[in-house]
Amino acid sequence: MNLRNCSRCGKMFNYIGGQPICEPCKKAIEEDFQRVKAYIQDNPGADLKQIAEDNEVTTKQIQQWVREERLMFSENSPLQMTCEKCGDRILTGRFCAKCKAAMANNLNNTFAKPQPAIQQPVKQDKKAGMRFLDT
Ligand SMILES: [Zn+2]
Ligand SMILES: [Zn+2]
Repeated sequence: MNLRNCSRCGKMFNYIGGQPICEPCKKAIEEDFQRVKAYIQDNPGADLKQIAEDNEVTTKQIQQWVREERLMFSENSPLQMTCEKCGDRILTGRFCAKCKAAMANNLNNTFAKPQPAIQQPVKQDKKAGMRFLDT
């Protein structure tokens, strides 16, 4: 058992991972999310404060959903989210497509593992070469 206080209602609950939020609160947040999502579709011109007030959620919560790429603003939305790296305007997530691509490249380089598919042919070539030398 890993008991924690729910970060939303403060009750103790059995923490299983992810955000420290209890099950009933998770459900309530999910309902809020669905409502906000539908609201943004119906009111693409609404700003953050208006969305928060009309749906009784915090602006912070809405921004968090956007950062998690669960919510996406429309092209003509007055809402401004900016790339955390270069400051470009984005509609969802934390980074613009450009920075994301650059970071994905960096990650691939950092965690690049030796590829067995590439190493094997090299081994075979060596064997073939040795066999060739033997004869
Ligand atoms: Zn809770
Ligand atoms: Zn960027």
